[in-house]
Amino acid sequence: NSFLDLHLSRPLLRACEALGYNKPTPIQAACIPLALTGRDICGSAITGSGKTAAFSLPTLERLLYRPKNRPAIRVLILTPTRELAVQVHSMIGKLAQFMTDIRCCLVVGGLSTKVQEAALRSLPDIVVATPGRMIDHLRNSLSVHLDELAVLILDEADRLLELGFSAEIHELVKMCPKRRQTMLFSATMTEQVDELIKLSLNKPLRLSA
Ligand code: AMP
Repeated sequence: NSFLDLHLSRPLLRACEALGYNKPTPIQAACIPLALTGRDICGSAITGSGKTAAFSLPTLERLLYRPKNRPAIRVLILTPTRELAVQVHSMIGKLAQFMTDIRCCLVVGGLSTKVQEAALRSLPDIVVATPGRMIDHLRNSLSVHLDELAVLILDEADRLLELGFSAEIHELVKMCPKRRQTMLFSATMTEQVDELIKLSLNKPLRLSA
């Protein structure tokens, strides 16, 4: 039960060490090896379980092998609130501190649309966004698209739906390539969450911690 057992590369192991993570939390131990196989995953996990690193570490591992001469948005992380997006963005910065050239951009309401638009047009590897603001950019700018997306993450799916983002999420999922990895995390598994799982995940593995 050590990070060394999880098949992560050195830059990520160093980051865990620098953050003082001695061993993986249960959701991390369960999720990371499965996520590295590329399968879709849905996890019941609450805040405090270490779910952010559970989906970020395998996602960053995949990005180590991306084609560097072809910049594109390869990962989209959707969160219900601006506060959570800020936290996830900051966590990714810490976990990627020893990786070179990873760019992660925050797209949420309340920040300048122009600045975000410029950041998105430069095709960052990872976008952490709230659904409404992300849709606005995709609708309004031809050069912002998800055609090269490899990983879609729906964080706190129950809250995304409670806050009324169902239509936006469906629209965003349609803009993603069919061939992708999708990971969904939710504190509770409601009927609505199950519907979203059926719509956006392909033969998901179910985890709980
Ligand atoms: P989360 O559930 O993703 O919101 O994470 C809750 C807190 O746990 C964050 O402050 C993380 O930095 C911390 N954390 C995540 N993974 C570990 C770990 N393996 N060991 C110790 N702390 C961790």
